[in-house]
Amino acid sequence: MSKADKEVLLAIRNLEVHFETRRGIARAVNEVDLTLYKGERFGLVGESGSGKTTLILALLRMIKTPGLIAGGSATLDDGTDLIQLDREQVRQARLKRVAMVPQGAMNSLNPVMRIGEQLMLTMREHATDRPSPPKAAQLERAIELLAKVGLKPEVARLYPHELSGGMKQRACIAQAISLNPQLILADEPTSALDVVVQRQIMQTLRQLQHQLNATVLLVGHDMGLMAQFAERVGIMYGGKLVEVGRVEEIFHNPQHPYTQLLISSIPSFETKGEFKGIPGVALSLLDPPSGCLFHPRCPESMPQCSQRAPILQTVAPDHLASCLLHEEVADAPAS
Ligand code: SF4
Repeated sequence: MSKADKEVLLAIRNLEVHFETRRGIARAVNEVDLTLYKGERFGLVGESGSGKTTLILALLRMIKTPGLIAGGSATLDDGTDLIQLDREQVRQARLKRVAMVPQGAMNSLNPVMRIGEQLMLTMREHATDRPSPPKAAQLERAIELLAKVGLKPEVARLYPHELSGGMKQRACIAQAISLNPQLILADEPTSALDVVVQRQIMQTLRQLQHQLNATVLLVGHDMGLMAQFAERVGIMYGGKLVEVGRVEEIFHNPQHPYTQLLISSIPSFETKGEFKGIPGVALSLLDPPSGCLFHPRCPESMPQCSQRAPILQTVAPDHLASCLLHEEVADAPAS
């Protein structure tokens, strides 16, 4: 399906998140434009500190001081701008419209409350626009949610510490889907799990996304996992989105040198499973380089790269990249 056939669910425009420190302002999310379509699986990839997690926290208005949303908008299909909502409106929108599957399941589950009770409490707290159903019906719904994520009814009676890491993450997914959100934000949901459990959880998330026809924005650094899960991928570097496209296009025809390095760093049979790092050090957001933020590490850097910042532009159908190599091609006089 091409982009033109899809309906827009969320339009993020010019989003800016700053962290104000004594040493200056760090632009953790820097003029990001991103459109998410209904029912798609989108993967946002980048190294640690690239701004990917900050971006999804901004959508849920969970940026904490000294961070602040310094500008931009994130508009849902009904015209609601998530960035402009007040505290109560944000609480109303959470779970019903936008939900998050967190990175550390243990930190988001209450250690002294049984899983079933936590699910029931979440549903009561966020569905304040209608009277709570009787407790038996709430429990029935909690058990139904557990079944959706592949957990047995008995899990409702257990405390988080009685669950394995994979089961805890499944319980968090059950919580996230409890009010049928249209947008599920998943922040490295399997990072603490072993590879087999990781694959199973991703499969569950994929099935649920399909059943709910929800949009999933998956954040992570594992390009291999993204290749298996996402339909489209965005690459972030230094708070900026540097490339966006269909997953097969990004993997077979990456246009940004950073994306090319990320892909070549994936362990393979040829590299005997060894992780090939990206040369150079990740940039300091407090003291970013001039021009293209990637130029100090870029193997294809040109003199103008330190003077001019590239803009995200179309390089192929449904494929955007921000690199002066493409602008040079576009600007070159016809021979
Ligand atoms: Fe590399 Fe220059 Fe492109 Fe930046 S603009 S990615 S430095 S070639």
